[in-house]
Amino acid sequence: MNKAVDVPLKLRESIIDLAEHVERPAPPGADTEKLVSRIKALLKQQNAVIIAHYYTEEHLQVLADETGGHVADSLSMADFGNRHPATTLVIVGVKFMGETAKILNPEKRVLMPDLDATCSLDLACPVEEFSAFCDEHPDRKVVVYANTSAAVKARADWVVTSSNAVDIVNHLKEKGEKIIFAPDKHLGHYVQQQTGADMINWQGFCVVHDEFRAQELKELKEKNPGAAVLVHPESPEDVIELADVVGSTTKLINAARDSKADTLIVATDYGIFHKMKEAAPGKKLLVAPTGGISPTCTMCAHCPWMAMNSLEKLAHVLETGANEIHVDEDIRKKAVVPIQRMLEFSNQFKQAKNKQQPVPA
Ligand code: SF4
Repeated sequence: MNKAVDVPLKLRESIIDLAEHVERPAPPGADTEKLVSRIKALLKQQNAVIIAHYYTEEHLQVLADETGGHVADSLSMADFGNRHPATTLVIVGVKFMGETAKILNPEKRVLMPDLDATCSLDLACPVEEFSAFCDEHPDRKVVVYANTSAAVKARADWVVTSSNAVDIVNHLKEKGEKIIFAPDKHLGHYVQQQTGADMINWQGFCVVHDEFRAQELKELKEKNPGAAVLVHPESPEDVIELADVVGSTTKLINAARDSKADTLIVATDYGIFHKMKEAAPGKKLLVAPTGGISPTCTMCAHCPWMAMNSLEKLAHVLETGANEIHVDEDIRKKAVVPIQRMLEFSNQFKQAKNKQQPVPA
């Protein structure tokens, strides 16, 4: 069974409206060098480390790497923050990533450059409605994507990321479980197709990936014979169908490195090109077409909320301690359970795969 729960049109419209009106900071100016040195000094002084997402601006990713921090997908960001000895984690990404870091590290200070940097998937899954819906289906395991609020995670049995969603749902299916999957409709549909699990999918959407267009992608492929198409599973089904590789941001970067093709057409946020260029130097990277060729394009393959992060804001929070993430302790205690479950599963799964052993029960 693959049923769907629609997000009300009004909520959808208000999310798009919010995304369209995000104020994007100006690109780094002449004082960048000074600002970077100040941030480096502050990181040392505050025993802080930067953990940035692949979708953030290139200069922020460079700074994270230069200062011993980490640039990664949300699973690896959580894992790194958990293992790193710094007492302050500066999460350069969007709010659910900061919350996840705090949930896993309650003793650490977690700062974010801008607390208004959110995610359309998080916004499309309000906890009251979602919780009431789960209560109507007590026979189903609740599986939520990492792109959700701490309160939604607290209501879940499992948290997943795009790196492990298929493996975790397969694992649950093998145990005979039925599933509620939230909030991304395209990822939910993809996971259901890959696993054949009995799922009800919440119909949230990513404002960036939802805009990739299949017809235009076909035309771009025809113009670039031999190009490989790399697609993130938050994209629409007809775009996924055209992919040579479907997967998480990390999987797509590895695919860019390993692909025999010289040209890669990429359907995810183009912030990923920084790490793809490092992994696959010399290859030509093309952004998959979005609604941008029509008047409906709003995001054009770059997340408006990821783009809110800047060097100025980073320096400001390190200097002032502003924008600290706090998570209610009751919620945190509940939310940490499905996150830890995911991290343990992923580690065991990786080990079992390396040893070619059966996956743990
Ligand atoms: S790219 Fe999409 S899924 Fe990622 S943070 Fe932005 S809105 Fe959310």
